[in-house]
Amino acid sequence: MARFDLVVKGGRVATAGDVVVCDVAVKDGRIARLGDDLNGADRIVDARGRLVLPGGIDTHCHIAEDGWMGFVPADDFASATRAAACGGTTTIVPFAHQQRGKPLRHAVDAYHARAEGKAIVDYAFHILMSDPSDQALGQELPALAADGYTSIKIYMTYEGLKLDDRQILNVLAAARRSGCMVMIHAENDACIHYLTAQLVDAGQTGLANFPLTAPHPVEREATHRAIALGEVVDVPILLVHVSSREAIEQIRWARAKGLSVHGETCPQYVTFTGADFERPGWEAAKMLCMPPPRDRASHDEIWTALAGGVLDVLSSDHSAYRMEGPGGKKHHGPEPHFHRVAPGMPGIETRMPLMFSAGVGQGRIGLSTFVAISAANPAKLYGLYPRKGTIAVGSDADLVLWDPDREVTITRSLLHDNSDYTPYEGTRVKGWPVMTFSRGDLVARDGEVLVQPGRGRFLPCARPLAAQA
Ligand code: MN
Repeated sequence: MARFDLVVKGGRVATAGDVVVCDVAVKDGRIARLGDDLNGADRIVDARGRLVLPGGIDTHCHIAEDGWMGFVPADDFASATRAAACGGTTTIVPFAHQQRGKPLRHAVDAYHARAEGKAIVDYAFHILMSDPSDQALGQELPALAADGYTSIKIYMTYEGLKLDDRQILNVLAAARRSGCMVMIHAENDACIHYLTAQLVDAGQTGLANFPLTAPHPVEREATHRAIALGEVVDVPILLVHVSSREAIEQIRWARAKGLSVHGETCPQYVTFTGADFERPGWEAAKMLCMPPPRDRASHDEIWTALAGGVLDVLSSDHSAYRMEGPGGKKHHGPEPHFHRVAPGMPGIETRMPLMFSAGVGQGRIGLSTFVAISAANPAKLYGLYPRKGTIAVGSDADLVLWDPDREVTITRSLLHDNSDYTPYEGTRVKGWPVMTFSRGDLVARDGEVLVQPGRGRFLPCARPLAAQA
Protein backbone atom coordinates (compact mmCIF):
# COMPACT_ATOMS: atom_id res chain seq x y z
CA MET A 1 0.00 0.00 0.00
CA ALA A 2 1.29 3.44 -0.92
CA ARG A 3 2.33 5.71 1.85
CA PHE A 4 0.34 8.65 0.50
CA ASP A 5 -2.75 9.00 -1.66
CA LEU A 6 -1.36 11.96 -3.57
CA VAL A 7 1.89 13.88 -3.85
CA VAL A 8 1.96 17.25 -5.61
CA LYS A 9 5.59 17.65 -6.59
CA GLY A 10 7.81 20.63 -7.12
CA GLY A 11 5.31 23.48 -7.12
CA ARG A 12 5.74 26.89 -5.54
CA VAL A 13 3.60 26.43 -2.46
CA ALA A 14 2.09 29.70 -1.30
CA THR A 15 0.41 30.44 2.00
CA ALA A 16 -0.45 33.73 3.65
CA GLY A 17 2.94 33.57 5.33
CA ASP A 18 5.40 32.06 2.87
CA VAL A 19 6.16 30.98 -0.65
CA VAL A 20 8.43 27.92 -0.86
CA VAL A 21 9.14 25.22 -3.41
CA CYS A 22 8.26 21.83 -1.93
CA ASP A 23 6.22 18.68 -2.34
CA VAL A 24 2.82 18.33 -0.70
CA ALA A 25 1.75 14.84 0.38
CA VAL A 26 -1.88 13.97 1.04
CA LYS A 27 -3.35 11.07 2.98
CA ASP A 28 -7.01 10.47 3.81
CA GLY A 29 -8.05 13.90 2.56
CA ARG A 30 -5.59 15.84 4.67
CA ILE A 31 -2.14 17.22 4.15
CA ALA A 32 0.19 14.65 5.67
CA ARG A 33 3.60 16.05 4.94
CA LEU A 34 5.47 18.95 3.33
CA GLY A 35 9.04 18.45 2.21
CA ASP A 36 11.49 17.48 -0.49
CA ASP A 37 11.49 14.22 -2.41
CA LEU A 38 8.23 12.90 -1.04
CA ASN A 39 7.38 9.70 -2.90
CA GLY A 40 5.31 6.58 -2.55
CA ALA A 41 1.88 7.79 -3.61
CA ASP A 42 -0.98 6.36 -5.65
CA ARG A 43 -0.99 9.55 -7.66
CA ILE A 44 1.86 11.93 -8.43
CA VAL A 45 1.08 15.35 -9.86
CA ASP A 46 3.92 17.32 -11.43
CA ALA A 47 3.51 20.92 -10.29
CA ARG A 48 6.82 22.31 -11.54
CA GLY A 49 6.30 25.79 -12.94
CA ARG A 50 2.96 26.02 -11.19
CA LEU A 51 1.78 27.60 -8.00
CA VAL A 52 0.14 25.46 -5.33
CA LEU A 53 -2.38 27.56 -3.42
CA PRO A 54 -4.85 26.79 -0.66
CA GLY A 55 -8.25 26.36 -2.23
CA GLY A 56 -10.11 29.64 -2.43
CA ILE A 57 -12.75 30.45 0.17
CA ASP A 58 -15.66 32.57 -0.99
CA THR A 59 -17.50 33.87 2.05
CA HIS A 60 -20.03 36.08 0.31
CA CYS A 61 -22.17 34.29 -2.25
CA HIS A 62 -25.93 34.10 -2.64
CA ILE A 63 -26.99 30.62 -3.68
CA ALA A 64 -30.48 29.21 -4.12
CA GLU A 65 -32.00 32.06 -2.12
CA ASP A 66 -35.69 32.76 -2.40
CA GLY A 67 -36.75 34.85 -5.37
CA TRP A 68 -38.34 38.28 -4.95
CA MET A 69 -40.26 40.75 -7.15
CA GLY A 70 -40.50 37.92 -9.68
CA PHE A 71 -36.73 37.52 -9.95
CA VAL A 72 -35.35 34.00 -9.67
CA PRO A 73 -31.69 33.39 -8.76
CA ALA A 74 -29.92 31.41 -11.46
CA ASP A 75 -27.87 29.02 -9.37
CA ASP A 76 -28.50 26.07 -7.16
CA PHE A 77 -25.75 24.46 -5.09
CA ALA A 78 -24.75 22.18 -7.96
CA SER A 79 -24.15 24.91 -10.52
CA ALA A 80 -22.63 27.35 -8.04
CA THR A 81 -20.17 24.85 -6.59
CA ARG A 82 -19.08 23.48 -9.97
CA ALA A 83 -18.34 27.08 -10.99
CA ALA A 84 -16.52 27.63 -7.71
CA ALA A 85 -14.38 24.52 -8.19
CA CYS A 86 -13.47 25.38 -11.77
CA GLY A 87 -12.43 28.83 -10.56
CA GLY A 88 -10.16 27.50 -7.81
CA THR A 89 -12.56 27.87 -4.90
CA THR A 90 -13.01 24.87 -2.59
CA THR A 91 -15.07 26.33 0.25
CA ILE A 92 -18.13 28.53 0.04
CA VAL A 93 -20.06 30.24 2.80
CA PRO A 94 -23.44 31.34 1.41
CA PHE A 95 -26.38 32.66 3.41
CA ALA A 96 -29.22 30.93 5.21
CA HIS A 97 -31.83 33.64 4.84
CA GLN A 98 -34.26 34.06 7.72
CA GLN A 99 -37.74 35.17 6.69
CA ARG A 100 -39.28 37.70 9.06
CA GLY A 101 -41.47 36.07 11.68
CA LYS A 102 -39.75 32.71 11.22
CA PRO A 103 -37.19 31.04 13.48
CA LEU A 104 -33.54 31.07 12.50
CA ARG A 105 -33.53 27.28 12.62
CA HIS A 106 -36.09 27.18 9.80
CA ALA A 107 -33.67 29.08 7.59
CA VAL A 108 -30.75 26.84 8.46
CA ASP A 109 -32.78 23.69 7.84
CA ALA A 110 -34.13 25.04 4.55
CA TYR A 111 -30.69 25.88 3.17
CA HIS A 112 -29.24 22.56 4.27
CA ALA A 113 -31.97 20.90 2.24
CA ARG A 114 -31.01 23.03 -0.77
CA ALA A 115 -27.32 22.10 -0.49
CA GLU A 116 -27.82 18.41 0.35
CA GLY A 117 -26.87 16.13 -2.50
CA LYS A 118 -25.85 19.01 -4.74
CA ALA A 119 -22.65 20.68 -3.57
CA ILE A 120 -19.37 19.39 -4.98
CA VAL A 121 -17.17 21.40 -2.57
CA ASP A 122 -17.50 22.06 1.15
CA TYR A 123 -19.79 24.70 2.55
CA ALA A 124 -20.76 26.49 5.72
CA PHE A 125 -23.55 29.02 6.28
CA HIS A 126 -23.87 32.55 7.53
CA ILE A 127 -27.18 33.33 9.20
CA LEU A 128 -28.82 36.17 7.27
CA MET A 129 -30.82 37.74 10.06
CA SER A 130 -33.83 39.83 9.11
CA ASP A 131 -35.80 39.50 12.35
CA PRO A 132 -33.65 39.77 15.49
CA SER A 133 -36.36 38.93 17.97
CA ASP A 134 -35.61 38.24 21.62
CA GLN A 135 -36.23 34.58 20.85
CA ALA A 136 -33.82 34.59 17.91
CA LEU A 137 -31.05 36.39 19.78
CA GLY A 138 -31.53 34.99 23.26
CA GLN A 139 -32.48 31.37 22.60
CA GLU A 140 -31.75 30.39 19.02
CA LEU A 141 -28.43 32.07 18.30
CA PRO A 142 -26.50 30.49 21.21
CA ALA A 143 -27.72 27.04 20.17
CA LEU A 144 -26.90 27.65 16.50
CA ALA A 145 -23.45 29.00 17.35
CA ALA A 146 -22.76 25.79 19.26
CA ASP A 147 -23.81 23.86 16.15
CA GLY A 148 -21.32 25.69 13.92
CA TYR A 149 -23.25 28.70 12.60
CA THR A 150 -21.04 31.45 13.92
CA SER A 151 -21.52 34.42 11.62
CA ILE A 152 -24.47 36.73 11.12
CA LYS A 153 -25.20 38.95 8.13
CA ILE A 154 -27.32 42.05 8.65
CA TYR A 155 -28.44 44.86 6.37
CA MET A 156 -28.80 48.58 6.98
CA THR A 157 -30.90 48.92 3.81
CA TYR A 158 -33.37 46.88 1.64
CA GLU A 159 -37.05 46.44 2.39
CA GLY A 160 -37.70 43.28 4.38
CA LEU A 161 -34.07 43.08 5.51
CA LYS A 162 -32.97 46.37 7.00
CA LEU A 163 -32.49 46.71 10.73
CA ASP A 164 -32.62 49.95 12.69
CA ASP A 165 -29.78 51.02 14.94
CA ARG A 166 -31.32 49.59 18.09
CA GLN A 167 -31.83 46.23 16.41
CA ILE A 168 -28.24 46.31 15.17
CA LEU A 169 -27.02 46.96 18.71
CA ASN A 170 -29.04 43.98 19.92
CA VAL A 171 -27.54 41.76 17.22
CA LEU A 172 -24.02 42.94 18.01
CA ALA A 173 -24.52 42.31 21.72
CA ALA A 174 -25.86 38.81 21.05
CA ALA A 175 -22.95 38.10 18.70
CA ARG A 176 -20.52 39.23 21.37
CA ARG A 177 -22.08 36.83 23.88
CA SER A 178 -22.00 33.93 21.40
CA GLY A 179 -18.58 34.69 19.89
CA CYS A 180 -20.02 35.27 16.41
CA MET A 181 -18.82 37.61 13.65
CA VAL A 182 -21.34 40.14 12.35
CA MET A 183 -21.15 41.08 8.67
CA ILE A 184 -22.79 44.39 7.84
CA HIS A 185 -24.11 45.73 4.54
CA ALA A 186 -23.55 49.42 5.22
CA GLU A 187 -25.61 51.86 3.19
CA ASN A 188 -27.93 54.60 4.43
CA ASP A 189 -31.43 53.41 3.61
CA ALA A 190 -33.20 56.79 3.86
CA CYS A 191 -30.73 58.42 1.48
CA ILE A 192 -31.23 55.68 -1.11
CA HIS A 193 -35.00 56.05 -0.88
CA TYR A 194 -34.81 59.85 -1.12
CA LEU A 195 -32.48 59.84 -4.12
CA THR A 196 -34.39 57.05 -5.86
CA ALA A 197 -37.70 58.88 -5.43
CA GLN A 198 -36.21 62.09 -6.84
CA LEU A 199 -34.94 60.31 -9.93
CA VAL A 200 -38.16 58.36 -10.45
CA ASP A 201 -40.28 61.51 -10.06
CA ALA A 202 -38.13 63.22 -12.68
CA GLY A 203 -38.47 60.28 -15.05
CA GLN A 204 -34.73 59.63 -14.85
CA THR A 205 -35.02 55.87 -14.69
CA GLY A 206 -32.42 54.72 -17.22
CA LEU A 207 -29.65 52.50 -15.94
CA ALA A 208 -27.11 55.32 -16.26
CA ASN A 209 -28.81 56.91 -13.25
CA PHE A 210 -28.33 53.91 -10.99
CA PRO A 211 -25.06 55.09 -9.38
CA LEU A 212 -26.81 58.36 -8.44
CA THR A 213 -29.08 56.46 -6.03
CA ALA A 214 -26.19 55.57 -3.71
CA PRO A 215 -23.25 57.99 -4.00
CA HIS A 216 -20.25 58.05 -1.67
CA PRO A 217 -21.94 59.62 1.41
CA VAL A 218 -24.51 56.82 1.48
CA GLU A 219 -21.85 54.18 2.11
CA ARG A 220 -19.55 56.47 4.09
CA GLU A 221 -22.18 57.43 6.65
CA ALA A 222 -23.45 53.89 7.17
CA THR A 223 -19.88 52.59 7.46
CA HIS A 224 -19.15 55.14 10.14
CA ARG A 225 -22.39 54.32 11.96
CA ALA A 226 -21.70 50.58 11.85
CA ILE A 227 -18.24 51.21 13.28
CA ALA A 228 -19.71 53.35 16.05
CA LEU A 229 -22.31 50.72 16.93
CA GLY A 230 -19.61 48.06 17.09
CA GLU A 231 -17.54 50.34 19.31
CA VAL A 232 -20.46 50.93 21.67
CA VAL A 233 -21.00 47.17 22.08
CA ASP A 234 -17.25 46.51 22.04
CA VAL A 235 -17.36 43.78 19.42
CA PRO A 236 -15.51 43.25 16.11
CA ILE A 237 -17.47 43.84 12.91
CA LEU A 238 -16.89 43.03 9.25
CA LEU A 239 -18.06 45.45 6.58
CA VAL A 240 -19.02 43.60 3.42
CA HIS A 241 -18.45 44.68 -0.19
CA VAL A 242 -16.58 47.89 0.60
CA SER A 243 -16.68 49.82 -2.66
CA SER A 244 -15.41 53.32 -2.08
CA ARG A 245 -12.36 55.26 -0.98
CA GLU A 246 -14.54 57.19 1.49
CA ALA A 247 -15.70 54.00 3.21
CA ILE A 248 -12.07 52.86 3.39
CA GLU A 249 -11.18 56.18 5.05
CA GLN A 250 -13.65 55.31 7.79
CA ILE A 251 -12.14 51.84 8.27
CA ARG A 252 -8.62 53.32 8.44
CA TRP A 253 -9.84 55.83 11.01
CA ALA A 254 -11.45 53.09 13.10
CA ARG A 255 -8.33 50.93 12.99
CA ALA A 256 -6.17 53.87 14.01
CA LYS A 257 -8.38 54.14 17.09
CA GLY A 258 -7.68 50.48 17.82
CA LEU A 259 -11.12 49.18 16.89
CA SER A 260 -11.48 45.70 15.43
CA VAL A 261 -13.05 46.47 12.06
CA HIS A 262 -12.65 44.14 9.11
CA GLY A 263 -13.44 44.89 5.48
CA GLU A 264 -14.35 42.82 2.47
CA THR A 265 -14.28 43.82 -1.18
CA CYS A 266 -15.07 42.14 -4.51
CA PRO A 267 -13.61 42.15 -8.03
CA GLN A 268 -16.42 44.33 -9.40
CA TYR A 269 -15.25 47.20 -7.20
CA VAL A 270 -11.84 47.34 -8.84
CA THR A 271 -13.21 46.74 -12.33
CA PHE A 272 -16.26 48.86 -13.11
CA THR A 273 -16.99 52.56 -12.72
CA GLY A 274 -20.03 54.80 -13.03
CA ALA A 275 -19.19 55.19 -16.72
CA ASP A 276 -20.04 51.53 -17.30
CA PHE A 277 -23.66 52.32 -16.47
CA GLU A 278 -23.83 54.48 -19.59
CA ARG A 279 -23.49 51.44 -21.81
CA PRO A 280 -26.42 51.11 -24.25
CA GLY A 281 -29.58 49.05 -23.83
CA TRP A 282 -29.52 46.45 -21.10
CA GLU A 283 -25.72 46.18 -20.95
CA ALA A 284 -25.44 48.09 -17.67
CA ALA A 285 -27.82 45.62 -16.01
CA LYS A 286 -24.98 43.10 -16.15
CA MET A 287 -22.89 44.98 -13.58
CA LEU A 288 -25.69 46.56 -11.58
CA CYS A 289 -25.14 45.78 -7.91
CA MET A 290 -25.36 47.39 -4.47
CA PRO A 291 -23.36 49.36 -3.59
CA PRO A 292 -22.62 50.58 -7.11
CA PRO A 293 -19.09 50.31 -8.51
CA ARG A 294 -17.41 53.71 -8.17
CA ASP A 295 -14.42 55.36 -9.83
CA ARG A 296 -10.71 54.91 -10.56
CA ALA A 297 -9.67 56.63 -7.33
CA SER A 298 -11.69 54.09 -5.36
CA HIS A 299 -10.12 51.22 -7.33
CA ASP A 300 -6.67 52.51 -6.43
CA GLU A 301 -7.61 52.91 -2.79
CA ILE A 302 -9.08 49.39 -2.63
CA TRP A 303 -5.82 47.93 -3.94
CA THR A 304 -3.81 49.98 -1.45
CA ALA A 305 -6.11 48.81 1.35
CA LEU A 306 -5.82 45.16 0.28
CA ALA A 307 -2.03 45.42 0.11
CA GLY A 308 -1.92 47.03 3.55
CA GLY A 309 -4.38 44.68 5.24
CA VAL A 310 -7.00 47.40 5.80
CA LEU A 311 -9.35 45.34 3.67
CA ASP A 312 -8.78 41.71 4.57
CA VAL A 313 -11.34 39.62 2.67
CA LEU A 314 -11.92 39.14 -1.05
CA SER A 315 -15.31 37.66 -1.89
CA SER A 316 -17.40 37.51 -5.04
CA ASP A 317 -20.83 38.60 -3.76
CA HIS A 318 -22.00 36.14 -6.41
CA SER A 319 -25.68 36.86 -6.88
CA ALA A 320 -26.55 35.58 -10.31
CA TYR A 321 -29.65 36.14 -12.35
CA ARG A 322 -30.00 35.33 -15.99
CA MET A 323 -30.48 38.26 -18.35
CA GLU A 324 -33.10 36.51 -20.49
CA GLY A 325 -36.20 34.53 -19.67
CA PRO A 326 -38.71 34.48 -16.81
CA GLY A 327 -37.22 35.66 -13.52
CA GLY A 328 -34.21 37.20 -15.27
CA LYS A 329 -32.87 40.73 -15.16
CA LYS A 330 -35.26 41.83 -17.95
CA HIS A 331 -38.27 40.38 -16.11
CA HIS A 332 -39.82 43.83 -15.64
CA GLY A 333 -38.94 45.06 -19.14
CA PRO A 334 -39.37 46.02 -21.94
CA GLU A 335 -37.37 49.15 -21.10
CA PRO A 336 -34.48 49.05 -18.62
CA HIS A 337 -35.39 50.84 -15.39
CA PHE A 338 -32.76 51.10 -12.65
CA HIS A 339 -35.25 50.34 -9.91
CA ARG A 340 -36.69 47.27 -11.65
CA VAL A 341 -33.52 45.33 -12.39
CA ALA A 342 -32.35 42.71 -9.90
CA PRO A 343 -29.06 43.86 -8.39
CA GLY A 344 -26.25 41.34 -8.43
CA MET A 345 -23.92 39.57 -10.81
CA PRO A 346 -22.25 36.20 -11.23
CA GLY A 347 -18.63 36.06 -10.07
CA ILE A 348 -17.91 32.92 -8.06
CA GLU A 349 -15.71 31.43 -10.81
CA THR A 350 -13.89 34.58 -11.93
CA ARG A 351 -13.03 35.96 -8.46
CA MET A 352 -9.65 34.28 -8.13
CA PRO A 353 -8.38 34.68 -11.74
CA LEU A 354 -9.43 38.34 -12.00
CA MET A 355 -7.77 39.33 -8.73
CA PHE A 356 -4.66 37.22 -9.28
CA SER A 357 -4.15 38.80 -12.68
CA ALA A 358 -4.92 42.40 -11.72
CA GLY A 359 -3.34 42.08 -8.28
CA VAL A 360 -0.36 39.73 -8.31
CA GLY A 361 0.21 39.98 -12.05
CA GLN A 362 0.21 43.78 -12.08
CA GLY A 363 2.30 44.08 -8.92
CA ARG A 364 -0.44 45.63 -6.78
CA ILE A 365 -0.37 42.88 -4.14
CA GLY A 366 2.05 40.07 -3.35
CA LEU A 367 1.27 36.38 -3.75
CA SER A 368 0.96 35.83 0.00
CA THR A 369 -1.48 38.74 0.24
CA PHE A 370 -3.53 37.14 -2.52
CA VAL A 371 -3.67 33.91 -0.51
CA ALA A 372 -4.50 35.87 2.64
CA ILE A 373 -7.47 37.71 1.16
CA SER A 374 -8.82 34.84 -0.94
CA ALA A 375 -8.44 32.02 1.60
CA ALA A 376 -6.58 32.46 4.89
CA ASN A 377 -8.27 35.59 6.26
CA PRO A 378 -11.83 34.49 5.53
CA ALA A 379 -11.03 31.12 7.13
CA LYS A 380 -9.74 32.87 10.24
CA LEU A 381 -12.56 35.41 10.47
CA TYR A 382 -15.28 32.78 10.14
CA GLY A 383 -13.84 30.00 12.28
CA LEU A 384 -12.55 27.62 9.59
CA TYR A 385 -8.80 28.03 10.14
CA PRO A 386 -6.51 26.05 9.97
CA ARG A 387 -8.70 23.25 8.65
CA LYS A 388 -9.25 25.49 5.62
CA GLY A 389 -7.29 28.42 4.21
CA THR A 390 -3.71 27.18 4.44
CA ILE A 391 -1.33 24.45 3.37
CA ALA A 392 -0.11 22.86 6.56
CA VAL A 393 0.17 19.36 7.97
CA GLY A 394 -3.26 18.36 9.24
CA SER A 395 -5.21 20.85 7.13
CA ASP A 396 -7.76 19.60 4.62
CA ALA A 397 -6.06 18.92 1.29
CA ASP A 398 -7.89 21.70 -0.55
CA LEU A 399 -5.33 22.68 -3.15
CA VAL A 400 -5.31 24.60 -6.39
CA LEU A 401 -2.65 24.13 -9.02
CA TRP A 402 -2.37 27.52 -10.61
CA ASP A 403 -0.66 28.26 -13.90
CA PRO A 404 0.65 31.80 -13.47
CA ASP A 405 1.45 32.13 -17.17
CA ARG A 406 -1.76 30.91 -18.76
CA GLU A 407 -3.53 33.72 -20.62
CA VAL A 408 -7.28 33.45 -20.87
CA THR A 409 -9.95 35.68 -22.36
CA ILE A 410 -12.96 35.38 -20.08
CA THR A 411 -16.09 34.49 -21.98
CA ARG A 412 -19.41 33.02 -20.98
CA SER A 413 -18.79 29.64 -22.62
CA LEU A 414 -15.82 28.98 -20.31
CA LEU A 415 -17.88 29.36 -17.15
CA HIS A 416 -19.97 26.89 -15.18
CA ASP A 417 -22.57 28.86 -13.24
CA ASN A 418 -26.13 28.88 -14.52
CA SER A 419 -26.42 32.48 -15.62
CA ASP A 420 -26.34 33.40 -19.30
CA TYR A 421 -23.68 36.11 -19.24
CA THR A 422 -20.55 37.25 -17.49
CA PRO A 423 -19.97 40.94 -16.73
CA TYR A 424 -16.30 40.25 -17.55
CA GLU A 425 -16.91 39.16 -21.15
CA GLY A 426 -13.74 39.76 -23.17
CA THR A 427 -11.52 40.52 -20.19
CA ARG A 428 -7.97 39.15 -20.61
CA VAL A 429 -6.35 37.63 -17.57
CA LYS A 430 -2.99 35.98 -16.98
CA GLY A 431 -3.03 33.15 -14.47
CA TRP A 432 -5.64 30.41 -14.25
CA PRO A 433 -6.46 27.41 -12.05
CA VAL A 434 -5.65 24.16 -13.84
CA MET A 435 -6.43 21.56 -11.13
CA THR A 436 -8.62 21.90 -8.06
CA PHE A 437 -8.44 19.37 -5.22
CA SER A 438 -10.98 19.19 -2.40
CA ARG A 439 -9.95 17.00 0.54
CA GLY A 440 -7.50 15.32 -1.82
CA ASP A 441 -10.05 14.59 -4.56
CA LEU A 442 -9.41 16.10 -7.97
CA VAL A 443 -12.75 17.86 -8.43
CA ALA A 444 -12.00 19.99 -11.49
CA ARG A 445 -9.33 20.06 -14.17
CA ASP A 446 -9.04 22.65 -16.95
CA GLY A 447 -12.68 23.61 -16.63
CA GLU A 448 -13.95 20.04 -16.51
CA VAL A 449 -15.85 18.90 -13.41
CA LEU A 450 -14.73 15.42 -12.39
CA VAL A 451 -17.00 14.57 -9.46
CA GLN A 452 -20.69 14.12 -8.82
CA PRO A 453 -22.93 16.52 -6.90
CA GLY A 454 -23.26 15.62 -3.25
CA ARG A 455 -19.61 15.05 -2.30
CA GLY A 456 -19.38 18.47 -0.67
CA ARG A 457 -19.77 18.47 3.11
CA PHE A 458 -21.17 20.91 5.61
CA LEU A 459 -18.48 22.59 7.70
CA PRO A 460 -19.45 23.59 11.23
CA CYS A 461 -17.53 26.77 12.06
CA ALA A 462 -15.74 27.52 15.30
CA ARG A 463 -16.57 30.75 17.12
CA PRO A 464 -14.35 33.31 15.39
CA LEU A 465 -14.27 35.82 18.22
CA ALA A 466 -13.30 33.16 20.73
CA ALA A 467 -10.54 32.03 18.36
CA GLN A 468 -9.13 35.56 18.14
CA ALA A 469 -9.07 36.19 21.85
MN1 MN B 1 -24.42 40.14 -1.15
